[in-house]
Amino acid sequence: MIWDVIVIGAGPASAAFARRAALGGINVLVIDGQTEKNKKPCGGLLAPDAQKILAGSDFVLPREVLADPQIFAVETMDLCTGQIRYYQRCYLNMDRWAFDKLLFQNMPEGVSVVSGRCTGIERKDGLFRLKVRTNEGIEEVKSKYIIGADGAASMVRRTFFPANKIMQYVSIQQWFEFKKEGPPFYSCIFDAKTSESCSWIIHKDEYIIYGGCFTPKHCRKAFEEQKKRLQEFTGLDLHNPVKTEACLADRPRKMKDFVTGREGVFLIGEAAGFISPSSFEGISSALRSGTALAEAFLSAEDSEKIARTYRKKTYGLRMKLMIKTLKRWFMYTPWVRKIIMKIGVGSIK
Ligand SMILES: Cc1cc2nc3c(=O)[nH]c(=O)nc-3n(C[C@H](O)[C@H](O)[C@H](O)COP(=O)(O)OP(=O)(O)OC[C@H]3O[C@@H](n4cnc5c(N)ncnc54)[C@H](O)[C@@H]3O)c2cc1C
Repeated sequence: MIWDVIVIGAGPASAAFARRAALGGINVLVIDGQTEKNKKPCGGLLAPDAQKILAGSDFVLPREVLADPQIFAVETMDLCTGQIRYYQRCYLNMDRWAFDKLLFQNMPEGVSVVSGRCTGIERKDGLFRLKVRTNEGIEEVKSKYIIGADGAASMVRRTFFPANKIMQYVSIQQWFEFKKEGPPFYSCIFDAKTSESCSWIIHKDEYIIYGGCFTPKHCRKAFEEQKKRLQEFTGLDLHNPVKTEACLADRPRKMKDFVTGREGVFLIGEAAGFISPSSFEGISSALRSGTALAEAFLSAEDSEKIARTYRKKTYGLRMKLMIKTLKRWFMYTPWVRKIIMKIGVGSIK
C-alpha cells in the first residue's frame, strides 16, 4: 500500500496533523516510537495557548489525564542573588503520557498508527521508502509525502535539512517521591552559575520532578551541582531519585532556525524548531503547526503549494516565537533579571 502521508512521531504535533488531515480525506500512517518505558520527558504543564487551541476543537481533558495538584502561582527563585518572587500561572498540571495517548484516541478513519522506530528513509521513483523497526522485525512502508513530527532529535530534519542546525540544550529531569510534609511545589529556578537557562520543580501526584535545560558540555555535572545548590537554598531533599530521564530541547534564536519543509518533506512541532525559547513550552506550537500543515495539505494540490501555504500559515507562530527570544533576554540576563525581580514587575504577593 502507498500512503498519502507518513508521519514520524506520535506527539501533539503529529496528533493535530493526523486528525485534521484524515477528516479531510487524506490517509495517514503514524509511526510511533514512544513506549511506556521510553516516555517523552516533559513537565506536563498545559499552557493557556494550548488550552485555547484544544478548546477550538471541542477537546476536553478527563480527570485521568490531570495530575495533582493544580497550582496557580510559580515560585521563581534566583540561586545567585537569593531573590524569590511569585507569579500567577494558569497552566494545567497533567500526566504527559496520558495526554499523548488521549490525543490519539478516537482518531477518524484514515489514520493508522504503527508502533516502532523509523530507522531509515530514502526517496526513490517519486516515493518515500521508510524502514521501521517493530517488535516483529524490520518493515518497509511507502508514501507520497513524509512529515517529521519526531521532536528535537528529529531524524527527518537531520536527513533532509542537515544545514539547518538549531541550538539545543540537554534537558535532564529526575523524579522523587514526595514526602508529604511541606507545601506543594511549583518553582522556576535560575542559577547563572550552573545554567544559562532555567530549571523547574513540579509537583505531580506522589512525585516531584526536578529538571532543567543545560548546555550539552558537562550537562550532567552542571545538573548535579545545581541540584546541590538548590537543596542548600530550599532545604528540599533531592536524594534517591526514582527515575532520571534526559532528551534534547531546541532553542530557536533566529528565523532560519524554523524549518517548515519542501519537496514532499515537512516538519512540524519541535522538529521544525517550534518551541518557546524562553519557557520551553512547546505543546501549543506543536498543536498549532500540526493543524496548519494539515490545512495546507487540504487547500493546495502539489508539494510546492503545500510548502508555501504552510509557511504562510505559520508566519504568526514564527513571529511570536521570535518575540519570545526578546523576552528571553530580559529573563536570562542576570543583571536585568535582578532588577526585574527587585522591582517585582508582574509579581503577586
Ligand atoms: C524536559 C522537558 C520538559 C518540557 N515541559 C513542557 C511543558 O511542561 N509544557 C509544554 O508545553 N512543553 C514542554 N516541553 C516541550 C514539549 O515537550 C515539546 O516541545 C513538545 O512535546 C513537542 O511536541 P512534538 O509533537 O513536536 O514532539 P514530541 O512530543 O517530542 O514527540 C516526538 C515523538 O516522536 C517520536 N520519535 C522520535 N524519533 C522517532 C523515530 N525515528 N521513529 C518513530 N518515532 C520517533 C518520539 O518517541 C516522540 O513520541 C518540555 C520539553 C522538555 C524536554
